[in-house]
Amino acid sequence: MYVDYHVHPLSHSGGDYTEVLLIPYLSEARERGLTEIGFADHDEYWEGLDRTIIASVSASSPDLKIKLGMEVSYWPGRETEIAGLARRYPFDYLIGSVHDIDNWMFDHPAYRMGYRAWEFDDLYRKYYELIKGMAHSRLFDIVGHLDLIKKYGYRPEGDLLPFAELALQAIRQSGLVVELNTAGLHKPCAAIYPSQELLSRCFELDIPVTLGSDAHTESEVGRDFVYAREILYRIGYRRIAVFSQRQRSFISL
Ligand SMILES: [Zn+2]
Ligand SMILES: [Zn+2]
Repeated sequence: MYVDYHVHPLSHSGGDYTEVLLIPYLSEARERGLTEIGFADHDEYWEGLDRTIIASVSASSPDLKIKLGMEVSYWPGRETEIAGLARRYPFDYLIGSVHDIDNWMFDHPAYRMGYRAWEFDDLYRKYYELIKGMAHSRLFDIVGHLDLIKKYGYRPEGDLLPFAELALQAIRQSGLVVELNTAGLHKPCAAIYPSQELLSRCFELDIPVTLGSDAHTESEVGRDFVYAREILYRIGYRRIAVFSQRQRSFISL
């Protein structure tokens, strides 16, 4: 069964949730055979979220579970603000994502030249240090695009697993779920987040997974999930995590 927990109806433009905005996402979810869709807009647009709209589209979609989440950007020092944001709504889940290193938005195409300032070993160490801090904060339910730092294909030579190991240990200790995010397939790195090697290590560590497309338009909902399921199945996963009011349970994959 498929769920898509990483969907951005407000994309990068913001605005408010309306039935007109959300319904095309539900239609696409049905087309793709999803049983559940979770809206998880970027935290800067939290004011546009609307429980009443979610409730009314849910009432008209008994065949599809609809969840309300949010993708929150983590950086050290933001913990109190994030805890406040988490109380704004009865969220089903929060995705924690690292998009910034010392105020550098490393995943933004406009700031790509910033990679030139780094030795990639140092960059990966710094990035996973932030992921580890995010896990220890215990503010989140799901780790967003775990190895986003590879987005533009910049990477150290050799095995990347050692850079992530301590972050993975922290993820396990904090009981976090890792998402398989298919958006990377359409970015310069042309690979899922996280890599199959990292997912295999997650499986060894008994870290649960869920699925996300990172859709910013309705046509991207559930994109590449057949492929994603194949990968998870091959690694050994037979169930994926789902959330209701920040309580985790599992459904079969
Ligand atoms: Zn993100
Ligand atoms: Zn996202």
